[in-house]
This record gives sequence, C-alpha cells and structure tokens, in this order.
Amino acid sequence: MNPNAKISDEQFAEFLNKVRALAEGPFEEMQKEVEQTNVFPQRFFDLARENDLYRFALPSEYGGWDLNELEILKVQEEFSRGPGGMRMHLHYSADLNWRILNEYGTPEVKAELMNKFQDKSVFTCFALTEKTGGTGADVHSTAIRQEDGSYLLNGEKWLISHTDCSQYAYVIAVTDPNDDKDSRLSAFLVPMDAPGFELVEMPHMMGCRGAGHAGLKFTNVRLDPKYLLGREGQGMEVAIHSLSISRVHIAASNLGMCQRMLEMSIARANDRITFGKPIATRQAIKMKIADMAAATHTLRCLVYDFARDFDVDPHNEYVDEKAAICKLNSIQAVKTCSDEMLEIFGGDGYFEDSPYGPTERLYRDCRALWLEEGAPTVQRITIARECQRLKAQLGYQD
Ligand SMILES: Cc1cc2nc3c(=O)[nH]c(=O)nc-3n(C[C@H](O)[C@H](O)[C@H](O)COP(=O)(O)OP(=O)(O)OC[C@H]3O[C@@H](n4cnc5c(N)ncnc54)[C@H](O)[C@@H]3O)c2cc1C
Repeated sequence: MNPNAKISDEQFAEFLNKVRALAEGPFEEMQKEVEQTNVFPQRFFDLARENDLYRFALPSEYGGWDLNELEILKVQEEFSRGPGGMRMHLHYSADLNWRILNEYGTPEVKAELMNKFQDKSVFTCFALTEKTGGTGADVHSTAIRQEDGSYLLNGEKWLISHTDCSQYAYVIAVTDPNDDKDSRLSAFLVPMDAPGFELVEMPHMMGCRGAGHAGLKFTNVRLDPKYLLGREGQGMEVAIHSLSISRVHIAASNLGMCQRMLEMSIARANDRITFGKPIATRQAIKMKIADMAAATHTLRCLVYDFARDFDVDPHNEYVDEKAAICKLNSIQAVKTCSDEMLEIFGGDGYFEDSPYGPTERLYRDCRALWLEEGAPTVQRITIARECQRLKAQLGYQD
C-alpha cells in the first residue's frame, strides 16, 4: 500500500489487529481501575511502549515506520475502540506530540529530543486554551523578549491534557502585545521543570478518565530562544496547522467509536427477543442501524479523503477546511451512533459491564470530542472562512 513504509502490508494488517485486541482487552480491563483513580497505571505506558504505540507514527529517522497519514489514521481508528482517556493519550502521541517539534523546532532542540519520542522518554502537552480567554487567538499569556535574547513567560493555561506524564509543554503566548493581529502570538516548547512553572489541579472529567488534565501557571518562566517554534509572530499559524491535522485524528477517533457502537448494537439487536422476535427484525430498529451505518461510512470516506490529500501535500490549500469538515461531521456521526446505541440497548445500555461492550463508558467518552480541538461553532467558522477564501472550490490534490 505504501512503498515507503518500513513494515510490509501483512505486518501492518497484523499490527492493526494487535492494536484492536489491546484496546478492547488489557486496556479496557485496566480502565476499570482508572475510572476510580483517574491515573493510568505504569503497566499502560509499558504495554503501549512494548507494542510500538509510541513509535508507529514517527518518521524512520526517529525510529518510526514512515507510515503515511492514511495508515496512521487507521491505527488511530483501532485504538479509539478502547478507553477514551487512553485514546486521547495515544492520539496525542501519534500526532501533536512529535509533529510540532519536527516541523517547527530549532535544529538544536530537535537534535536533543526528536529521538526520544519513540520510547516515550520524552512526552509533551499542548497548551493553547486559557481560562481568561476565548478559543484560538484570544490568548493573554505573554512571553516578552529580554535584552539578552531570552523570553519571560507569564500567565496561565486551562484544560490541558497529559500534564502528568510530560516533560515539555507547547505553549502559545503573546510576544508582541502592541500588535492587534494573530501575528502578536508565538509558539514555544517550554520545559515543565523550569522555575516558575506550576500545575493547577482540575476536577475529574465526565469521561476519558486518566488523561492527566490540569491548568498551567507561569510566573517569570525564563526561556532560552532555542525553544521558539517557527518564527516570532508565527504562533497562530503553528497552532492552526497542528490543530487541523489533530482535528482529523479526532474524526478518526469518532470513526473507531462509531464502528464499535454499530457492531455492538447489531449483536445486541440480534440477541434481544421481545414479543417472541429479535428486535433486529423490527423496522424501527433497522432504521436505527441504517442511520448508524450511513453516518459511519460517510465519516470514513471523509477521513480517508483528507488523508489522501495530506499525503500528497501536508500544506495543501484544503487542509484547514477539510479538517474542520471531518471534525464537524464526526461529532454528528458519533452523536447519532451513541444515541441510537443507547436506544437499541434499552435500560441495560445505561449500566456498566454489558457483555457486548462498554456502552455507558463509550457514551460518556465520546462527548469529550465535541470540545477537543474546538467546539462545533469553531469548526463552522473555519469552514465558512476557508470556503469563502477558496470561493467554494473544495477540490482534490493531484
Ligand atoms: C477533554 C478535553 C481536553 C482538552 N485538552 C486541551 C489541551 O490539551 N490543550 C488545550 O489547549 N485545550 C484543551 N482543551 C480545551 C478545548 O480545546 C476547549 O474546551 C474548546 O476549544 C472550547 O473552548 P472553551 O472551553 O474555552 O469554550 P468557550 O470559548 O467558553 O466556548 C463556549 C461555547 O461558545 C462558543 N464560542 C466561543 N467563542 C465564540 C465566538 N467568538 N463565536 C461563536 N461562538 C463562540 C464555542 O464554540 C462554544 O460552543 C480540552 C478540552 C476538553 C474538554
């Protein structure tokens, strides 16, 4: 399938099967405890490492397999069938974690860190959202350049994932407070053990438990200029491009969950007898299955279409619009599938430990994806902006 890949098609197919078995087997078993503790056990990280889950998405120069984006998204689809918090961790690991540094890092920092993602000896978190600001460019944290060339970082971030297992944070901050455009922002890689860097505790979440959420607080954190990502003033571009790809990973996550909910719902509908017949034979139930299948297949086509364009040119002109379309549709798809699943399962679906799969946990977990990488309103704003810019010409890369 991919002539550049360092593993054969057969090995890749086996890998997909292995990832599904892990997600629905040992990971799901561990999650029962994580639901209470909100912390992943060390065994989760070890299993992920032993099974190449930190490695598969990397370029071969950093220990990876040179998979293309379509293949990476297929792996994402498989592990997303498992617990939501683990999905969030592995999604991030396969994507923003290494991609931002790879694309925008200085040669010095890349030489120091890029080889350390493959076995998770380095992990990062991504910090854009602020309690006091709005989605995207409405950022108030500042990183002001000093006379000696260093930057002084002050401010806060909120709702940040993976803070309990990271050594560095990607931080978007204002470097030019007098500029009223997006170019007032810059992106930095910030060592989390720097003096003045603190974590602020957050409450437990509805689902996706264990993904290490916290707020960040910066008080005069001094940054070496080698930690600037891209150019000064390029921060919004770094964030938007990185988030676009991540939005499609969100869509692939929803795809994995939709597919599993569909399979579980068909199995349950075939087994559940009411008034002498399986409910699967009732037209009302068939309509639900049809809507779930249609939403899932449409989503798969959108995700694969994005990946094919991206593999031709990662900076193609359709990236932002298609990514937002993927994410928006994926929310609708997972909304349809989770609602219909609950109705098909009836009262049993509202309880933990269904023999068909974790109906109640899937229902809670998938709702985080409404918000990750931007709420539906923000996706619509992006689609409208890009659609107007491209004069409605949403095409394909050759
Ligand atoms: C599980 C989880 C993990 C997350 N992880 C991270 C992370 O690792 N890093 C990170 O930086 N952030 C993270 N976030 C934050 C996430 O990106 C934001 O929650 C999301 O972008 C929405 O922003 P907000 O919460 O500030 O909502 P608000 O900005 O308060 O928005 C509330 C509602 O108003 C709408 N709205 C807001 N402004 C406008 C406007 N100008 N025009 C129209 N509508 C508007 C929004 O679309 C939304 O529907 C995470 C969130 C969750 C739930």
